[in-house]
Amino acid sequence: MTHYLNYINGEWQESASNRKYQSINPANTSEIVGEVENSVAAEVDKAASYSQQAYLSWKKLAGAERGQYLYKTADILESRLEDIAETMTREMGKTLPEAKGETARGVALLRYYAGEGMREEGDVIPSTDAAALMLTKRVPLGVVGVITPWNFPVAIPIWKMAPALIYGNTVVFKPALEASVTAAKVIECFDEAGLPSGVINMVNGEGAEIGQRIVDNPQINGITFTGSDKTGKIVGQGALNRGAKYQLEMGGKNPVIVTKDADIDLAVEATISGGLRSTGQKCTATSRVIIDESIYSTFKEKLLEKVAKITVGNGLHPETWMGPSVSDKQLNTVLDYIEIGKNEGATLIHGGNRLTDNELDQGYFVEPTIFENVTTDMRIAQEEIFGPVLALMKVKDLGEALTIANDVEFGLSASIFTTNIQNMLDFIDDMEAGLVRINAESAGVELQAPFGGMKKSSSHSREQGQAAKEFYTNTKTVFIKG
Ligand code: NAD
Repeated sequence: MTHYLNYINGEWQESASNRKYQSINPANTSEIVGEVENSVAAEVDKAASYSQQAYLSWKKLAGAERGQYLYKTADILESRLEDIAETMTREMGKTLPEAKGETARGVALLRYYAGEGMREEGDVIPSTDAAALMLTKRVPLGVVGVITPWNFPVAIPIWKMAPALIYGNTVVFKPALEASVTAAKVIECFDEAGLPSGVINMVNGEGAEIGQRIVDNPQINGITFTGSDKTGKIVGQGALNRGAKYQLEMGGKNPVIVTKDADIDLAVEATISGGLRSTGQKCTATSRVIIDESIYSTFKEKLLEKVAKITVGNGLHPETWMGPSVSDKQLNTVLDYIEIGKNEGATLIHGGNRLTDNELDQGYFVEPTIFENVTTDMRIAQEEIFGPVLALMKVKDLGEALTIANDVEFGLSASIFTTNIQNMLDFIDDMEAGLVRINAESAGVELQAPFGGMKKSSSHSREQGQAAKEFYTNTKTVFIKG
């Protein structure tokens, strides 16, 4: 079993707490994937203080020089892709091909942001004084605190840390404990690339202690958070109280709309892929399927036929299509929502049970689950479940579909299947979501495009692509006269 220490000021350090956290394999709970420090808040203070010192020289480097470190980290991550992907599968359960895809995404993100070091960092704006030069200049925030969830343990930390670093910030990183071994391996790549001491720091531990200290530490100038809306609220309020810049990306309750003119086979494929891949544990996962009544039976039949063929098991096995829930807590949440759905009067038409045969009792496996006769007021139609559960809803037309699709507090992603151009245009205009996808599944993000939600899904900034610059820099307006 590997043991990972905290990474502070370029050194792997033991926590003073003497507490360890053991990360277990959700597909086989007798396997300990690794152990990390379960730190105390003072270690965040230490990391932040070194990070502040490192910031003074890191921000002075040319962007291109900072970019070289990211290119090097990308090469190292690429050379370790197999190992890191396998660790991810063992630690949080997603299938190996998905884990490899995510790690490759991490490599691409590092290279994308490495190039950012040579792109523009401001605009020239004509002054009313003809003898003056007026311009804007993007400047770093200082130390950025990075708090991440377990569901994309390589991609999310990198899509936060790479832009933070390239724009001249330094980082104090707290990964989710459930995916902390994978995160430590990502930090090893930065370490091997030779980043100056203190530029990147990692402190492992509980959210309420380590995450909270990142929120409260006055030396941390910006906080970027991805996770549940419940935690996001705490992070946002804490940051606001002390005037730190913050960014929150949170949950979703993402719909797919299937209109009467849709390519039904395509819609079925995308509903399964968007809703059930990664065991439904993506913030952009499809959870509500809103179907025109004229094609409802055909769609349902085809969906049930395909879902029945899904193989559930250990994500390392090549025949597995869907892995386990990440933890017993998450499994119980999913099972609770299945009970809630039944009690609310929805009709269970597929799955609904924990899987225990053929050694699946060793892990947190649940059947892909489908409900019908779901109404929009039900909790299974309103609340994020974060599991392989689909709610089918029948509608008369696109107008009703959009009303239902928008009748939730979240607004992260949404998709529609239609061949009618007017339907597409209406959907683009009227769907309240940060990511709207036409004839494509709700889960799907490209690293060069802005990503983020509306409503309760986000603090309304955007991550990734050029949009990242908005959060990771401040704008200075400069006026120069000779
Ligand atoms: P979570 O909110 O439980 O935890 C997220 C992180 O916050 C973890 O590192 C946790 O330790 C930390 N944390 C917990 N309490 C804290 C506190 N008081 N102060 C500071 N930090 C604290 O979320 P999770 O279960 O790890 O992840 C699942 C959630 O993440 C889902 O809701 C999902 O939709 C969301 N998510 C959103 C996106 C997006 O981009 N919108 C992407 C992936 C996941």
